[in-house]
Amino acid sequence: MSRLSFADECAPLLLGAVRAFEPGNTVIFGVGYDGTTSYRPGTRFGPDAIRRASDGLETYSPTQDADLEDLQITDAGNLAITFGSPEPVAAQVADTVEEILEKGGRPMMLGGEHSLTPGAVRGALRHHPDLVVVQLDAHADLRPDYLGERFSHACAMRRCLDVLGPGEDRLFQVGIRSGTREEWQELRGTERWVEPSADALRARLEHLGDLPVYLSVDLDVFDPAYMPGTGTPEPGGIDWACFESLLDVLAERRLVASDVVELAPELDPTGVSSVLAAKVVREILLAMGQ
Ligand code: MN
Ligand code: MN
Repeated sequence: MSRLSFADECAPLLLGAVRAFEPGNTVIFGVGYDGTTSYRPGTRFGPDAIRRASDGLETYSPTQDADLEDLQITDAGNLAITFGSPEPVAAQVADTVEEILEKGGRPMMLGGEHSLTPGAVRGALRHHPDLVVVQLDAHADLRPDYLGERFSHACAMRRCLDVLGPGEDRLFQVGIRSGTREEWQELRGTERWVEPSADALRARLEHLGDLPVYLSVDLDVFDPAYMPGTGTPEPGGIDWACFESLLDVLAERRLVASDVVELAPELDPTGVSSVLAAKVVREILLAMGQ
């Protein structure tokens, strides 16, 4: 992976992954960036916490009857980034995602905060112009800017829409339960908001056919009872059973890229949030398949 620069090749390895890149592999990379976090920082420690917690899980998923050991997964380590403004980091993420896709791999980014996703979507769009984005999140993330910062994590989906275009069927927002009055007026005026249930999601996605799908999981979509280790927890979230039923529907689609963001491990001294995040990663890897 010549053009890419990974800071920490000594980072712990994700369960079931190898360091070496082979074309066709799913490629995991971490981005420990939390420069625009508005409330409680700490997602910069997310990628390695997920890797360490994954060690306590099995490679086999009984619900999917699938095993990480049957997949080819590369863990490329963490991207070497400069702290500060989010824009250069997003540009780096875009190039990384594009390069992985060009080489026949499927990228999965471990955050870091949600401000990274527009970069990843931009890179994926260069390779898949008809890309569709599915966002699991508590927050709409549709602000035009937040305290003057257009690339804040509170604007993540607004920036995705900038590059996806205005069509009704480019972005699907699942589990959203928080936003400004303006964000909700917009959500209610479009078909974008999807109730967090398998039936509702299937009904909204079934006409997509073989279109490539990017799945972005902001972990605060889970109820804070299960996921307290996140910067902006929002009561009223989904539980594990709901997540699995949603993923079941998503596995029927063509998942070409994904991210799991917003784990702030040090905000949960029990460590359970990191374990949940690692299990989310395992299940998505299996749903992406080979
Ligand atoms: Mn978000
Ligand atoms: Mn959120």
